[in-house]
Amino acid sequence: MVSRKKELLTLMKIENDWYKDTMSQINNDLVYDLLELEATNCQKCILSESRNRVVFGKGDKKSKIFIIGEAPGKDEDINGEPFIGRAGKLLTEILLSIKLKRSDVYITNTIKCRPPQNRNPRNDEIKSCSHFLDKEISLISPEVIILLGKTAAETVLNTSKSMAELRGKIHYYKDTKIPTLVFYHPAYLLRSPYEKRKVWDDILFMKREINVS
Ligand code: URA
Repeated sequence: MVSRKKELLTLMKIENDWYKDTMSQINNDLVYDLLELEATNCQKCILSESRNRVVFGKGDKKSKIFIIGEAPGKDEDINGEPFIGRAGKLLTEILLSIKLKRSDVYITNTIKCRPPQNRNPRNDEIKSCSHFLDKEISLISPEVIILLGKTAAETVLNTSKSMAELRGKIHYYKDTKIPTLVFYHPAYLLRSPYEKRKVWDDILFMKREINVS
């Protein structure tokens, strides 16, 4: 028996596949907005007491490239946007060098609130924030994940290996087939400018190994 919904779609000359895709996109957008709202009001860890703004992910929610940094810094905490300070400017330059605008990718952090004095995030803080990151990844469903620096790499890959061991290899996000790469963090490159060319090795590796369609 033809369902009432199908009947109406046919009557309105609306393709069933188009309807399904559109509804699932609307649903995704709605779930994303609710997730962001949940983060904005989150008080699960002590960082909620010292933050100015929650810094949720930003960018193209349909992007194939999902970038994860460590934690918001001072500029991000004031403006509520990831990677807009010095490290963010370098990240923008790195992306432009491979003809990507920031709006072409999705950028977020391992944790969404600034640790006081930019100290390293603590394990309990990372743990209470991790469901936001997991849900962002599942809603955006990227083709490649790029982890910037040790904190992001340790958290997402659940490893204590060194950057030297992790770079230049394809890892996978949890039990998915999403290729996940480890790059130097732009803040490290700012502190050690002579290492800057290594970011080229990271990018060339990505271009060689990953076919982002
Ligand atoms: N800004 C961010 O948003 N994340 C970092 O890891 C560093 C600076």
